[in-house]
Amino acid sequence: MRVRRWKALCLVVAWSSLAAVAGPASPAAAARSTDDMGQDVSTAVYVVDSYWRTHWSRFFTGKYVPPAVYGGYRRGVTKPPLCGGRRLGYDNAWYCIEDDYIAWDLDLMAQGYRIGDAWVYLVVAHEWGHAVQARLRDSLVMSTYELQADCLAGAVLYGAAADGVLRFERGDLEEIAEIHRRLGDETSWTDVTDHGTAAQRTSSFNRGARYGVRGCLP
Ligand SMILES: [Zn+2]
Repeated sequence: MRVRRWKALCLVVAWSSLAAVAGPASPAAAARSTDDMGQDVSTAVYVVDSYWRTHWSRFFTGKYVPPAVYGGYRRGVTKPPLCGGRRLGYDNAWYCIEDDYIAWDLDLMAQGYRIGDAWVYLVVAHEWGHAVQARLRDSLVMSTYELQADCLAGAVLYGAAADGVLRFERGDLEEIAEIHRRLGDETSWTDVTDHGTAAQRTSSFNRGARYGVRGCLP
């Protein structure tokens, strides 16, 4: 409900809804501030959690339990949280398996947000994807761990749009492509810790967008 009221929502232009959504300039096209970012982050958490809460039993057994959301920290202001007794680093976003929470560096969030608001949705959906992986039995978790999280992010964000919870806006697709360009590894996936090249990340995200959660499972 909250989400529908916020017009700036969005991520990814759905191939089928581009025409329907294209129209007058949206609030998202206007200058964005850190306040907007905070609101987008809250919306992203709400959207992603709602998707999994609503659809979990369609895909998996057991009860859906969301990860905790630690939220942001910033160099010179707040230290990164501890994860399994070790402090997380700056300039990254995380899902901490040991303590089951997601967290992110606010400077990293702000940096990506300059590309567009799609950034925060991608970050939250990707890290939440890791939390989902942690809840699955081993046979459902792929060795291409990071690419599977990208796939789950695509599945959730497009799924939320199909549910009518998230609205797509013009320009989001370009933002996603740009984000993957900046985040991709320089070499192809070879190891479980690799994220994959920009093309591999985009391709995984698109697989989730097209085929949903089941398209992300082995
Ligand atoms: Zn990841």
